Amino acid sequence: MSESPRAGQCDCGHVRVRLNGPIVAMTECWCSDCQKETGGGSSHSVIVSSDDVEIVGEQLGTRTRRSQRGAEVTRSFCLGCGNTIKAAVGDTPFIGLRAGLFDDRAFFRPQMVLFASEAPAWVSFPAGAKLFDSQPSAAA
Ligand SMILES: [Zn+2]
Ligand SMILES: [Zn+2]
Repeated sequence: MSESPRAGQCDCGHVRVRLNGPIVAMTECWCSDCQKETGGGSSHSVIVSSDDVEIVGEQLGTRTRRSQRGAEVTRSFCLGCGNTIKAAVGDTPFIGLRAGLFDDRAFFRPQMVLFASEAPAWVSFPAGAKLFDSQPSAAA
């Protein structure tokens, strides 16, 4: 589906990411955690195997909490600028990298909308995306 590698970084540049493998899925998530994180919108993630990702930079903080579905979700963020870098659900081999990190974002198109039922009424979902009322496993 994708050309690799893809490179990106957080807003302040302290954390750099490099994706060396294929994209498994592209998601838009409307869970309440993501709405808090973004300030009221959805999060957009590129789901990949964690083995395919290189993250350079020591300025990462983490926060772990239970998702609405009861899974343990750990978000990692840059301590310099606060940008979320990745989210991981439990001990699955997949992580969600935030789509906004990538230098070239033109490739991104949400294929799956997670927690669609939590989205505000004004939202139009991306054309062709599959809607889920919660979260299929492996998607953060
Ligand atoms: Zn940063
Ligand atoms: Zn979410």
